[in-house]
Amino acid sequence: MDQNLTQLIEVSRLYGKDKTFVIAGGGNTSFKDGTHIWIKASGVALETIDGNGFVCLSRDRLKIVSAKTYSHDATEREAEVKADLTNAIISAGDNRPSVETSMHEIIDYQFVVHTHPTLVNALMCSNNAESVCNELFGDQALFIPYTDPGYILFKKVEAETARFTSKFGKAPQIIFLENHGVFVAGNTIPEINKLYSSIIEKINHKIRVMLPADDAKPFASPIIDHITQLHPEFETFVAKGIESNLIHHFTTGRKCFLKADTAFTPDDIVYCKAHYLFIPAYDYEKDQLESARTKIAGYIDTFGYLPKVLAVEGQGIIAVEDNLKSVLNVLEVYSNILKISFLSENFGGPKFMTRAQIEFIDNWEVENYRRKMAKS
Ligand SMILES: [Zn+2]
Repeated sequence: MDQNLTQLIEVSRLYGKDKTFVIAGGGNTSFKDGTHIWIKASGVALETIDGNGFVCLSRDRLKIVSAKTYSHDATEREAEVKADLTNAIISAGDNRPSVETSMHEIIDYQFVVHTHPTLVNALMCSNNAESVCNELFGDQALFIPYTDPGYILFKKVEAETARFTSKFGKAPQIIFLENHGVFVAGNTIPEINKLYSSIIEKINHKIRVMLPADDAKPFASPIIDHITQLHPEFETFVAKGIESNLIHHFTTGRKCFLKADTAFTPDDIVYCKAHYLFIPAYDYEKDQLESARTKIAGYIDTFGYLPKVLAVEGQGIIAVEDNLKSVLNVLEVYSNILKISFLSENFGGPKFMTRAQIEFIDNWEVENYRRKMAKS
């Protein structure tokens, strides 16, 4: 195998297996030469990736996406872009290239490692994201305010990268995306590792309020035992609950839970949906199951889908999904939301996605595909 692809696999696994950088199959990596780009396939986990997990595309044909004018209708536009992306594939088998392919293409360095580190997102999902980012990184990094993913985000990054490059005489090697994560680029892997270390070190330096020790353990609840009876669609579902000091911090009351009741990033929505259901203690003094049943029905009425995360006041959180793998993913992603919310207090407190931003993701076909792949 080509030396560069071997290195790409190594760096992908290195960050992929580190839960502080990547959780539940998120993140993506790429390598490019003058004519081709190799990018992680959609739905493949970095942790265990091998040569078959990458899609090779023609860079010339990818440039069409940047030059072309697409439909104004979001759904039509994303379909047109997807067709051009598919058209640029050289060899892929059944794999679909990452939705972030065009972004990797315009980053003017050979290796790109995109992750969603908890510490970086504590800053990216906070009220002071942009100002702290400027203070810590200055002309070393480009900050992109939240933009709907897909083509719109790509065009935004393309324009901002061009502006940055003409201003500083060099393309950015660090691109921070608000409510999303970070892209780190370099022509060698040691360069990328060094940049990541400096990012973590700088943000860590600003942390005053530290996370409580990770002491997560299962907890018992009649809601978990009887989940299949709480809604007809839960009939074949699985539920699992955990509690920890961090979880108690958010579940002690409804007011605390306001800092953990919705999504920070598009990935949160992919795994956990955008809204998390709080089941208050006063409601279940008589019958906890009946109270949960009513709350679940109310949630479905409001949002039109089944809840995946239930927070039981004073007890813990419960993940509900149609299989155990998905339940574990939900617990992992939602625990990460709690960490990000907690740590964001170092940067002015949590900044969640807005209703319009959430709606865009809910309607996005590409994310539905990822959701499907994550389950299989
Ligand atoms: Zn991402």
